[in-house]
This record gives sequence, structure tokens and C-alpha cells, in this order.
Amino acid sequence: MAKHRITIAIDGHSSAGKSTMAKSIAKELNYVYIDTGAMYRGATLFAMKERLIKSNVIDIPEFEQALERMYLSFRYNPNTECSEMHLSGVNIEKEIRTMEVANNVSLVAKIPAVRTKLVAIQRRLAEGSGVVMDGRDIGTVVLPKAELKIFMTADPEVRAWRRLRELKAAGKEVTYDEVLENVLNRDRLDSERAVAPLKQAEDAVVIDNSNLTMEEQYVFMLNLAKKRMEEV
Ligand code: C5P
Repeated sequence: MAKHRITIAIDGHSSAGKSTMAKSIAKELNYVYIDTGAMYRGATLFAMKERLIKSNVIDIPEFEQALERMYLSFRYNPNTECSEMHLSGVNIEKEIRTMEVANNVSLVAKIPAVRTKLVAIQRRLAEGSGVVMDGRDIGTVVLPKAELKIFMTADPEVRAWRRLRELKAAGKEVTYDEVLENVLNRDRLDSERAVAPLKQAEDAVVIDNSNLTMEEQYVFMLNLAKKRMEEV
């Protein structure tokens, strides 16, 4: 029987299935799940609502000032059994999943003031143990002492097909080419940015799930977690 509650950091490429896995593992272990991508998406929606993004260009000085007025919070929804993102108390969970937000999010995520603000919230949320957090810089920057670090990836084409299926299921009008372009662009922008770029932590376990079923991956990750819980 595993004794210790640990902190699990899951990073990786866009649409590699991090959130789905992180949510399932957290549920099974009765841990808290924190989706940091939702926070960067929330910040992006805020910038869009404030009309600070025009033709893929963001007014950084104005945005930095506006950040004081940005209130992002997670609230648990018993119907979906998930914590959903809210902006100033309004549920934005659906709005942050649009292609428009996905196309602008890397612009916002590279601004140091945004990262400083969100990383402070993420660390507070992860206080205590029994946490699964997913994102791009969790094992490297946000929670470098996490007992288990996983880096998830898959071929871009595989990720684009999976994402397309999700978007279509949610009723979104979008093509495979648009999704693939977004996935490739976000990988590039997230990996090349100066602050907290997407990169594998040295002590992360890498999982390429291009040829794995969800079940295979879930069992593998859950076993890793249980093993770490025994070791620490
Ligand atoms: O995980 P998700 O695809 O929802 O993340 C959306 C975007 O938020 C990423 O493409 C990345 O630009 C940004 N992000 C980040 N750091 C994190 C989580 C997400 O920069 N920890």
C-alpha cells in the first residue's frame, strides 16, 4: 500500500493528452488537479476582452497595467466533476477552448509579468501534497522539487487528429490543417520563448504516446506514480 502523497508534474507538447491523463490520475489517487494551460488561456481571453490583442499583436505595457484587474480562479463544478476556470467570477471554461484563444495564447504566455503572476498562484495552489499539475514549465520552473515528473509527447499529426476530434465533438467548425498549424506553431513558440520555455526536465520520464492507447498510457503513468509514492 502506497504511503506518501506526492506532487506530480506533467509537461509536454500541445495536445499531447496531458490534461486527460492528469485528470484521470488525480481522480484515481484522490489528488487535486491543476490545469495551468487553462490559466494562460484565461489570461488570453482577458486580454482579448480588454481589446489588447489586434491582428496577433499584443499591447504589452497596457496589458501589464491591466493585469491588476485580472481575477482568475478555479471553481469546482459538481456536474462535470471538474474545476472550471472563472474570470472575475464568470465561468469561461468553454470560451477558453476556442481556436481564437489557442491562436493567441502563446503571445500572452511569453510575457514575463503574466508568468510571474500565474506561477505565484500555481505554487500556492500546489501547497501541501497530493497534487497533479500539468503545463509546459511545471517540472522545470513551477514545481522543480516534484517527486514525479512526466514529459508527454506524440507526433504532431497524431496530436492534431486527436484535437480535431475533440473540437468537432464540441461542435466547433475547424479543419485538420488549421489544427495542425496551431499545434506546430504553439510547439515552436512555447519552445523558443525566452522565459520558462517548454523543455523536458532532466529528471522527467518521457512518454511518447503516438502508438499507445489511453488505457496503456494510464496504467503506465499510474504505476509510475504508485512506485514513487512507495519510494519517497
Ligand atoms: O495546455 P494548454 O494547451 O491548454 O496550454 C495553452 C497554452 O498556454 C500553451 O500553448 C502555452 O503557450 C501556455 N502554457 C504555458 N505554460 C504552462 C501552461 C500553458 O506557457 N505551464
